Amino acid sequence: MKASQLFFPTLRELPSEAEIVSHQLLLRAGYMRKTGAGIYSYLPLAVRVLKKIEQIVREEMNRADGQEILMPIIQPQELWEKSGRWSVYGDEMFRLQDRHKRGFALGPTHEEIITTLVDADVQSYRDLPLMLYQIQNKYRDEIRPRFGLMRGREFIMKDLYSFDLDEEGLDVSYKKMYAAYCAIFHRLGLEFRVVEADSGAIGGNESHEFVVLADSGESVIVYCDRCDYAANVEKAECVLPEPAKEAPPLQEMEKIHTPGVKTIQELVGFLGHPAHEQAKTLMYMADGELIAVILRGDRELNEIKLQHALQASELFMADEMTVREQCGAGFGSLGPVGLPLKVYADPEITRLYNFSAGANQDDYHLVNINLGRDFVPEEIIDVRNAEAGDICPHCGGTLQSTRGIEAGHIFKLGTKYSDAMEASYRDQNGQDQPIVMGCYGIGISRTMAAAVEQKNDQDGIVWPLPIAPYHLIIVPVNSKKEDQMEAAERLYQEFSARGVEVLLDDRDERAGVKFKDADLIGIPVRITIGPKSLQENKVEVKKRMDKENLLLTLDEVVDKVLAMLNAE
Ligand code: ATP
Ligand code: MG
Repeated sequence: MKASQLFFPTLRELPSEAEIVSHQLLLRAGYMRKTGAGIYSYLPLAVRVLKKIEQIVREEMNRADGQEILMPIIQPQELWEKSGRWSVYGDEMFRLQDRHKRGFALGPTHEEIITTLVDADVQSYRDLPLMLYQIQNKYRDEIRPRFGLMRGREFIMKDLYSFDLDEEGLDVSYKKMYAAYCAIFHRLGLEFRVVEADSGAIGGNESHEFVVLADSGESVIVYCDRCDYAANVEKAECVLPEPAKEAPPLQEMEKIHTPGVKTIQELVGFLGHPAHEQAKTLMYMADGELIAVILRGDRELNEIKLQHALQASELFMADEMTVREQCGAGFGSLGPVGLPLKVYADPEITRLYNFSAGANQDDYHLVNINLGRDFVPEEIIDVRNAEAGDICPHCGGTLQSTRGIEAGHIFKLGTKYSDAMEASYRDQNGQDQPIVMGCYGIGISRTMAAAVEQKNDQDGIVWPLPIAPYHLIIVPVNSKKEDQMEAAERLYQEFSARGVEVLLDDRDERAGVKFKDADLIGIPVRITIGPKSLQENKVEVKKRMDKENLLLTLDEVVDKVLAMLNAE
């Protein structure tokens, strides 16, 4: 491809709406443009990257016995009613009506469609197992579409669904997909971790996320420095260390006037008690009931754990007015002693002695509180986020933490959808049995953004070779000089003939502009043809991340660069 013909409108300015580097770079380097909130048009360079990611995904799905199909984006309401999800999916679903006022959804996911499809044509145990997948747009009206392709409202996903006779069959399918996903992220050239995940609203019992490591990622994961344990902080179990041999003597509880003190930090300043010797009290509405949760002052509450532990179908933070009405004090002065509500305590509270918390009276705190003596919790439940430094629940090692982007997610669904939608097969004894299902997604467009997020520097994108839009860019320093253009053309032809994807920057631009653009769009190898080296029949070869150039003759450069690319 000649750069003069390629539509890649680069921007010199940093786009103001873009908060994270992948969003900025994909706009600046002319990969995409915003069409609406969370809705993007992909330009030629992006389409090349997306197709490469798709192809790697497709090859691994096929290798694992997946068969590619294509289902409709527009999905009839009846199918969603049958599964029960039309009413519970909520505002994230785009809904529309046809001219006869019949309801439809723009597919946010395809369990309903595929379960119906398979049920209609799978009758016997002989028809299973079966794995079907597609690569297609998904539609989710996300509350906060943001970070460009990371959280779009229209995005590209590969979704595979497995259908098995029983749980053992599902185990086999799940393991195959797990291995295929590892192969995919490995082939994409990305650093990633597989983490135990929360299976959230989809249900099922086992679930893993494939997290592409990047500092800006929304997922926080912990992993063990000794064994291969890794988990999303939403899921990671917190292990309580062994108790101290002897408990310190219990002091008398005391109420202290703490005017204006509202936060844990302010109380640290006022009382001199460190945050880990205080309890923080958080108020939630759980299925309509006001409850209190206490945990150590330096910890973070994990709402997903809390919701699971309480088995609440609806959970949100209580507003201050409700809290004041029932507790007699506002936020910042609350504590577990004497609260007229259910109080849930994190296990670490059982290891705190003589700790401080709000007194349920504005501007007052209690010191020397002790669990058991001064209050009795309704239940002790693990509700905090795991953190670096925690004990590994598998081996007792120490957990580290890192951030990343969830790019893939696999679930065991079991019979959730086959029960609801009556999808069954006839077993060897002529009995009807529900089909056992799994689902496996990869965000193709999110993976493109995640790759940029992980691989970039101050000059632009640094694509891993397997998904780079072009492998090589040839830059004649002055496109008006005939000898430079001739050498460039010759190399362009030779490389192309040998299967290398080449971009030739034949634009009438200054060399500096061409170099900047080559770095910005992230082409892995650059060949520069300048007047000085060309006198000696030589050209300069530079890898995107290297500082040094390599001087090679026109005759050797093709073989040498091919060897370089093959070694990547
Ligand atoms: P998240 O927790 O980020 O909302 P999810 O659990 O809703 O993700 P799944 O339903 O498991 O995601 O979808 C499978 C994959 O699709 C995800 O792993 C992710 O790569 C991608 N994905 C999900 N939502 C979006 C989105 N709004 N924009 C881009 N990709 C998405
Ligand atoms: Mg989501």
